[in-house]
Amino acid sequence: MCQVEFFGMNLHAVYFILGCLFTVFVLGFAGAPLLLWTGAVAALMYGLGASTACWIAFGIFAVVFNIRPIRAYLVSSLVMKLFKVLEFVPTISETERTAIEAGAVWVEGELFSGKPNFTRMMKESYPELTTEEKAFMNGPVNELCAMIDDWRIWQDREIPKNVWDFIKKQKLFGMIIPKEYGGLGFSALCNSEVVKKVSARSLPVGITVMVPNSLGPAELLIHYGTQAQKDRYLRKLAIGEEVPCFALTEPGAGSDAGSIQATGELFKDASGKLMVKLNWEKRWITLAAVSTVLGLAVKLKDPQNLLGKGEDLGITCLLIPSNSPGVQLGRRHDPLGVPFYNCPTRGKDVIAPAEESIIGGLEGAGQGWKMLMECLGAGRGISLPAQGTGGTQLCALIGSAHAAVRKQFGVAIGKFEGIEEPLARMAGNAYLLEASRRYTCGAIDSGIKPPVVTAIAKFNSTEIGRETVNDCMDILGGAGISRGPRNVIANGYIATPIGITVEGANILTRTLIIFGQGALRAHPFAFKEVQSLEDNNLMGFDHAFWGHVGHVVRNLFRSVGLSLTRGRLACAPAGAGPTAVYFKKLAWASASFAIMADVAMGALGGKLKQAEKLTGRFADILSWMYLGSAVLRRWQAEGCRKEDLPFVHYCLETALFNIQQAFDGIFSNFRAPGLTWVFRILISPWSRMNRISSAPGDERVHTVASLIQTPGAQRSRVCEGLYMPTDTNTEQQARLEEALLAVKAAEDTDRKVKKAVREKQLPKIKGAKLYDEALKKGVITQAEFEMIAKSEKLRWNVIQVDEFTLEEYASRK
Ligand SMILES: Cc1cc2nc3c(=O)[nH]c(=O)nc-3n(C[C@H](O)[C@H](O)[C@H](O)COP(=O)(O)OP(=O)(O)OC[C@H]3O[C@@H](n4cnc5c(N)ncnc54)[C@H](O)[C@@H]3O)c2cc1C
Repeated sequence: MCQVEFFGMNLHAVYFILGCLFTVFVLGFAGAPLLLWTGAVAALMYGLGASTACWIAFGIFAVVFNIRPIRAYLVSSLVMKLFKVLEFVPTISETERTAIEAGAVWVEGELFSGKPNFTRMMKESYPELTTEEKAFMNGPVNELCAMIDDWRIWQDREIPKNVWDFIKKQKLFGMIIPKEYGGLGFSALCNSEVVKKVSARSLPVGITVMVPNSLGPAELLIHYGTQAQKDRYLRKLAIGEEVPCFALTEPGAGSDAGSIQATGELFKDASGKLMVKLNWEKRWITLAAVSTVLGLAVKLKDPQNLLGKGEDLGITCLLIPSNSPGVQLGRRHDPLGVPFYNCPTRGKDVIAPAEESIIGGLEGAGQGWKMLMECLGAGRGISLPAQGTGGTQLCALIGSAHAAVRKQFGVAIGKFEGIEEPLARMAGNAYLLEASRRYTCGAIDSGIKPPVVTAIAKFNSTEIGRETVNDCMDILGGAGISRGPRNVIANGYIATPIGITVEGANILTRTLIIFGQGALRAHPFAFKEVQSLEDNNLMGFDHAFWGHVGHVVRNLFRSVGLSLTRGRLACAPAGAGPTAVYFKKLAWASASFAIMADVAMGALGGKLKQAEKLTGRFADILSWMYLGSAVLRRWQAEGCRKEDLPFVHYCLETALFNIQQAFDGIFSNFRAPGLTWVFRILISPWSRMNRISSAPGDERVHTVASLIQTPGAQRSRVCEGLYMPTDTNTEQQARLEEALLAVKAAEDTDRKVKKAVREKQLPKIKGAKLYDEALKKGVITQAEFEMIAKSEKLRWNVIQVDEFTLEEYASRK
């Protein structure tokens, strides 16, 4: 018989080797359990005619590794000891542990897994407002927006009394307070919707409305208050009879809030009643100077062990009437000139009854940090993402109208390719942040408090908001710089750093919370390993460690397989249509992220926490996978509108490009002796020559920039939920919209006139004279002439900026 050879090898041998490689790949890619691998190795040994000695060795391995108790006692116990000796897992302080344990893991767990279940992710809620909430938005919230004069507020440096009264009367301070306590009992989505609309209208008013509905007395009382405390405060808070603030930050304790020095000391007064003596020095406390009830975080001590829980009880939250003797209030800071109350407060030997003042009563003593972390885990996903989204949408609206209306070199500036780039960025950002805002609120309203996702939402919406306001300022040019009632962007530009700094400053949020906390929390095995090591739980460790090994193996195969096929081996959920490619690429990104995260954890162990440049890049990958998924969810939830696809393409290409850039940073900076080859050989080459995505191309940028400058349903959808003033005498936003409509309506006529100039039917003259000539020569009709005259008049009017007399300027009137 003829022996067919391939490079000197028998063809059967080649088939055999290929078959083995294929089987290994399929098992690895699918994440087959150890038992299947054992069977495959047995089949291979049988095929190779293994010796008895080999079978015995194999049998021992198979028994040891497949029978859990044996594996745990013989292997896992050694691994456990090794981990401890090498200090392989990060040490986690009590405050960090509480932060990690607060809330739940949501879809970020899918993205962390390396094999995201997009079908599940696309079924997660993308919520709508209820009828009652919609009526509130269209009624009282619009009414509030109509009565706000943001310029006056900034000039007078205070919110007028009628606005304060309206806010209180309409229970805007009580949006999160349940109806049974007289509040509005709104969803997180509605709370966010209100903050978005009001903040885009006026940031000082937005912040004032936001704070009582964020982390503070009401929120803490709802979740942890005793019945007596709820009855005492909630009704009054709902109608603004009590104005709350919450004081955590101190000069020595900003980001490191767990290190506060404020103290409370338990003692019994002459009548035997348990009291607490409080001392504090707090700063940057929003609303403090006008508050009537002061929420306080202190370290509670019980020197006489009156509660029987030891001397140091830990961080505790309390509520103190602001007029209590010893409370110092009344001063304020100046947060970038933004006129809202932001204040220092000090307290000297303030005495309060313990049971009534400690949130949760005596049970709540020492539980403050847990309460704060749990509430912040949800709250971070509501207020600041709402402000970032509203600001971004407003910039997209104002910037695009201005670009379409403002002419230079005889052309609307929005037609210049240089301007198209920031225009498309603003539009894409507005579409993306709205998607992320709703998707995140959907989780919170479903009762999940996912701290990693809310940190992603907070960090990215404020950072993207900062990018967008800069883009808008560039487009507005001098019109963005000249302050006055006609400039609706400058105040937001000035105030942008506030959102970056509060509720977890962004640098720390990116490096320590999104990935640092995420790596432990969202990783399917890491935290379980740490916990079982700390608890000396051998079986728990065995389960987590070997689960982790299997996870690494599967993700390595998936990452290589998906890199080689550019994601084609991954599945997209049903109905993905033209977006299927993005699901596949996100699956590819997730697999590579998961394996690289494990390589980083394996190589750096406990030191990973300090490698913030690295964790920051991992955070960016996780963030953009989440934001991309939110955009896909939005598109599906809104009925897969074909006409919105340009925004979806733009957002996903941007997300994937940012993911690629973060990978580039990891690949070029990560040094892991002994492990470097794993990713250098297996993943890095694919990433260099086989990039997940490039940035949106010029054609795409042009399409999106044109769409956002075209009045219509798509433009309105991108800026949905903003207050739209209609008075063109007083409101620049209304004037811009009116001018945009007129300019667009006259565009065809304008083109006709320009064509006539090119064809030398009309002379090369500019301005009104050209249109007079066009009418005279019959190039345009009388109606067309009037249309163009109107558009030119509105165009001229809208590009005017404010001016003041020297006295007006000095007097701020
Ligand atoms: C306008 C305004 C309103 C506020 N309202 C309130 C309020 O109502 N109640 C209240 O209690 N507090 C409030 N704060 C305080 C706010 O929460 C803190 O400003 C915030 O926690 C950051 O603290 P810090 O400003 O001291 O910055 P710092 O902690 O000094 O941080 C400075 C920088 O270092 C970074 N950084 C710190 N640690 C790390 C790390 N480990 N890794 C990487 N980077 C790190 C931060 O990200 C930041 O960029 C408010 C602040 C402002 C400005």
